[in-house]
Amino acid sequence: MNLPICSVCLNSDLLCPACQEKVDKKLVSEKELELYRRVSQLSEKFKGLKDVEIESLIEDKDVLVVVCSKGDVSRVVGRGGSNIKRLGRELGKTVRIVEKSADKRKFLQDLVFPVPIKTFGLVYTQEGEKYKVRLSSGRIPIPRKSFISIAEKFLGKNVELEFEKEEQETTEDKIKRLVRQMNS
Ligand SMILES: [Zn+2]
Repeated sequence: MNLPICSVCLNSDLLCPACQEKVDKKLVSEKELELYRRVSQLSEKFKGLKDVEIESLIEDKDVLVVVCSKGDVSRVVGRGGSNIKRLGRELGKTVRIVEKSADKRKFLQDLVFPVPIKTFGLVYTQEGEKYKVRLSSGRIPIPRKSFISIAEKFLGKNVELEFEKEEQETTEDKIKRLVRQMNS
């Protein structure tokens, strides 16, 4: 697993000049360094994680987001999600794999998949700028609090999350929908 810290430093308590510089320049925080070391150690036990390129890891209390390059997503996920399930169990967190992208909306979309993002944009309020994310109604795969904290870390601004109101389904529509489901 290739992380922003080199393999020598991941396996030692000391840092080489190149990695030390990343820490000094705050490209990598002390907390992230600790997390990289932990994940690197865990990943050695996993099939297929050896050569993958990890761009960054973002975590909160309940969730770990692994940002990796497009070609590596399926290897990181593992067969039938085996890697993320196992990594999640070891860390006691839900693990989400997100494709490295300069597109902010895409990052957030990967995070909440399969619930679609309806609108996303920067809004100006009296307290300053913040991002507003509006999702279709539905169950997102991570706690809302985690979504907000991770999105804030990623975007570097406050984030507000909203859901579209569930449209009231009439009894007649409900019956039609159930019949459709039964027939499909
Ligand atoms: Zn190093």
